[in-house]
Amino acid sequence: MFTNAWHIGTFFKIPVKIHWTFLLIIAYVIGYGISEGATVMIIAVAITSVLSLFLCVLLHEFGHALTARRYNVETEDIILLPIGGVARLRNMPDKPIKELVIAIMGPMVNLVIAIILFAVLVLLHGVEYFNTTNLTHIDESSFLSVLPLLLEANIALIIFNMIPSFPMDGGRVLRALLAMKFGKLKATKWASIIGQIICVGFIIYGFTSGQYLLIVIGFFIFASALSEYNAVKIDYKYKDKNVSDAVRNTYTPLIEYNTLEEAKLQIDTVTDNSFLVINLSGQQCGTITRSKIEKEKKQNAAQRISQVMNQNLQSISADSPLIHAYYLLMQGIDLLLVIKGNEIIGIVDQESLQLATVE
Ligand SMILES: [Zn+2]
Repeated sequence: MFTNAWHIGTFFKIPVKIHWTFLLIIAYVIGYGISEGATVMIIAVAITSVLSLFLCVLLHEFGHALTARRYNVETEDIILLPIGGVARLRNMPDKPIKELVIAIMGPMVNLVIAIILFAVLVLLHGVEYFNTTNLTHIDESSFLSVLPLLLEANIALIIFNMIPSFPMDGGRVLRALLAMKFGKLKATKWASIIGQIICVGFIIYGFTSGQYLLIVIGFFIFASALSEYNAVKIDYKYKDKNVSDAVRNTYTPLIEYNTLEEAKLQIDTVTDNSFLVINLSGQQCGTITRSKIEKEKKQNAAQRISQVMNQNLQSISADSPLIHAYYLLMQGIDLLLVIKGNEIIGIVDQESLQLATVE
């Protein structure tokens, strides 16, 4: 999702990227304008509105990123997507109050922008301007019309972002408030459940009122609420554990020169499910799993291990956090060599992770 983003500049030492699909919005605005027979002026005003709205979203993200910096949390980058922005923080502070402040400073930026726009409109047209006739009949052929449109959009951004569900800022605020009393894990669980209930409400309302965008948003938030809870659960499981807590020193290396027939005989004497492969001079050269050996053996038992093994052999330091090993193994790596100093002290695989994290 984030790979096709263009770097458009670096502000406050934070790279800002824009996703290519953003161009689709501009294309849509132009295409729609032309199909409706709009004047060049109206289309130019519409594009200005879209760009100004995205500037507001960008400022919102900087609200998060620069507040995070005050707590020594750096931001990897800010990405603007057609559906909004994301400030990718390197980590989240442990103290709930800090997460709360970081979360709330995004919508606060929109609140400040809304107040400024309101003041400018009052200065231009007087308070009388704010009646429903004016606000529903905005003259779209004047650049001044960007102001009331932007005011409405910023209010919508505040409301939308304060929905108390992940990944909205409101979800983080809710989680932080709950975490002060119940701890982060329970708080995330409850914030996630509340978020999911809200989503179900969105989806039902979307269906009954025919507002299909609400259904899409509902499903999107639902999935995010679940994945946030799972991520926190995993963080908890691996918290305060290092690779050295999970290292396995006794393992059965297989020789790459051996056939799968021979390998099968050898692995049947042990219970391991992933194996390190060594060459004839005893050097590590690959990995293979029990299921791979069994599957390939059915095809051709005379094949050598070297022909079917995984040659991507990766290592990890014994002092690394165990969660790093988890993420590497999640990418489909069979096992990791564990290094301490210059020595290989053992291996880590899915089973050793499980053994190290049983409660
Ligand atoms: Zn935000």
